[in-house]
Amino acid sequence: LKRLPFVDLVVGPGSLSRLPELSEALLAGAKRPVCCYERLNTEFDERRRIKGGFSAFLRVMRGCSRACSYCVVPRARGPALSRPPDAILSEAQKLADAGVKEIVLIGQDVSAYRFGDVDFARLLQLVAQIEGPKRFGFVTSHPLSVSTRLFEVMADNPRISRYLHMPAQSGSDRILRLMRRGYSAEQYIQTVQTARSIINDLEVASDFIVGFPTETEEDFAATLRLVYRCAFINSFIFKYSPRPHTLAAKMADDVPLSVKKERNLRLLEAQSEVSLQRKRGLLGRTVAVLVEGRDKKSQRLRGRTFNNHIVVFDGSAAVGDVVFVKIEKVTPLTAFGRMEGVR
Ligand code: SF4
Repeated sequence: LKRLPFVDLVVGPGSLSRLPELSEALLAGAKRPVCCYERLNTEFDERRRIKGGFSAFLRVMRGCSRACSYCVVPRARGPALSRPPDAILSEAQKLADAGVKEIVLIGQDVSAYRFGDVDFARLLQLVAQIEGPKRFGFVTSHPLSVSTRLFEVMADNPRISRYLHMPAQSGSDRILRLMRRGYSAEQYIQTVQTARSIINDLEVASDFIVGFPTETEEDFAATLRLVYRCAFINSFIFKYSPRPHTLAAKMADDVPLSVKKERNLRLLEAQSEVSLQRKRGLLGRTVAVLVEGRDKKSQRLRGRTFNNHIVVFDGSAAVGDVVFVKIEKVTPLTAFGRMEGVR
């Protein structure tokens, strides 16, 4: 703190519930309070001010109990701690009462949620019974945290988004072991296939890290193959950089930046090709779209399908309406069409 004279207050994730009290103390003249060593808690979330708007995130847990070798979250935010279901349901109800059209349950490894005998599948089932919102989603799921039961809950309720953001990170078993992800590429593919066999029209998205220490061209080729096999709707791609205090940071960051950039581009190109294929599957179909507003560029109506395809279309509808749109043209990122009616 001596080196950071401009810092007035330090609050760790375990002490967030004390933020109002510490801020008041600071305003009353207390000297640079530091508070970061208490046990992680979730009380802070219970004081959230509810605002309206189209979409709202609802945090169901904090921290993460996994041990991915490149990730600082477990150290920085502590182990996973789930909020009580009653508190989550009450917040979801308040969001619904405020007119929110979409509620997205969030957590670092959201599907690992557990409070007593309420697991994530049960929590999602309970939240998605609340009247008002048109769509319920969740992010992000570690592949070992999802379950057949979760897929069944998603399949059973038409208001739950048919979209699974489940980062694979790599398609190489050797790199996955070094990353300590706990699954092989084949196990990941099996999970995607199981989910698709249960949830009609499911779309899956992934994250990837390219240039992880020791990643060879062969490892990267396995990642490219995974993108084609899983046919992701989109992927979020990151060039590896070491995070202090992680296991991976002890390894030599030996993939040159030029190679990381090149692999990043090649993976983006592969994903763009796959995204276009997924979008082509919509051509000529009439799909249900939840209207979110106007497209900034064209001022046409804009929304997303229940499996997360962005759709821009002509027609007349209000934000929050679910409308039917016939798809006439597609790009890797967007489908374009004409409205045929309101659900
Ligand atoms: S990458 Fe995700 S699952 Fe792995 S430790 Fe970090 S937050 Fe947890």
